[in-house]
Amino acid sequence: MSNMQSIGLYIHIPFCRSKCPYCDFFSLVSYDEQLKERYVDALKKEMEIYSQKIRDVEIISIYVGGGTPTVLTGEQLSEILSSCYHNFQIAKKVESTVEANPGTIDKEKMERLLQSGVNRISLGAQSFNNKALKKLGRIHTKEDNIAAYQLARSAGFKNINVDIMFGLPGQSKKEFENVLTELMLLKPEHISLYALSVESGTPLDNTIKTGKTRLPCDDFCNKLFLSASDYFSEYGYEHYEISNFAQSAKRCIHNELYWKNRAYLSIGAGATSYIDNKRYQNYQELNQYIYLLENGILPIRYQEVLPLKERMAETIILNLRMMEGLEKKAFHSLFNITVEDIYYQSLHNLKEQGLLTESNTHYFLTKKGILLANNVFMEFLD
Ligand code: SF4
Repeated sequence: MSNMQSIGLYIHIPFCRSKCPYCDFFSLVSYDEQLKERYVDALKKEMEIYSQKIRDVEIISIYVGGGTPTVLTGEQLSEILSSCYHNFQIAKKVESTVEANPGTIDKEKMERLLQSGVNRISLGAQSFNNKALKKLGRIHTKEDNIAAYQLARSAGFKNINVDIMFGLPGQSKKEFENVLTELMLLKPEHISLYALSVESGTPLDNTIKTGKTRLPCDDFCNKLFLSASDYFSEYGYEHYEISNFAQSAKRCIHNELYWKNRAYLSIGAGATSYIDNKRYQNYQELNQYIYLLENGILPIRYQEVLPLKERMAETIILNLRMMEGLEKKAFHSLFNITVEDIYYQSLHNLKEQGLLTESNTHYFLTKKGILLANNVFMEFLD
């Protein structure tokens, strides 16, 4: 790589205490302490190898995600973070986030994270209703969520995200409103609000197919989403991405890198990186990942240069996720051609359907387009 480039660094921790029935992410629930130790060493080794290969980059965001990073000990997490500082040039104003599961944190871990330079906690609360949390198979209660949040605050974290899910089985409007009220009492700087999605092959998918579980219809979910979005804006949150809301200057820098289709390096089993228009994916199988690194070999399963058409579509789709939308000039300077030249018909169709609109400088989703974002994105895919 030439010229100093600002990139993000993602670190994947593929362990969880137990499997949530809706989840299709790669994570292990049975592992021993030794495997965790070897995994942490492998992560450090992977960073060390990259530090020799990737020069002239500055890390502007670090994001430790999973799985459940907080199943690691405070000491392991701090080892990983100091390895980042040891191997890479880290920006002074780096945003450094760790995802925390309210069922797996304590005071010592929070303080350790803060001392390791972490300045943002993303709390996987998901709900503040105990019945809903139980149905989701989460290992924590509403009380744990509040205690974890307060622990992060009292440890000194000034930037906390809370993940909330909606469209849960049997969820009523009242129940959701109560969740929002609880959330506003905490006043997080950032909120991620996701609809529960049913991934095929998950236990949730099976109970839906057999009729044991019923999800609310799309119309109802859309109403919940719009009411939440209005509610958050009354409290001063900016709706800046389809599923994300932030108080001023607290947008998530790491996710913005993804949405702006910028470069990031990902470390860990199954992790995907995007650097110099190339996509890399690591082996997911843990023993293979660890074994290769123990032998000083990068665990890359495949790499591909993204075809031009795919890069264009991806640029549009990712940028449209942001409320400010796709900047016409930016598209032109990336590809040397206007977005209209390539996608005239798609843009026209979407505008006709009231899903997309434009200003002099940008294309962006309408309110209807936000609710039907997947339909919009399909237009740009062959
Ligand atoms: S804690 Fe997160 S990653 Fe782990 S099983 Fe549950 S949803 Fe999946």
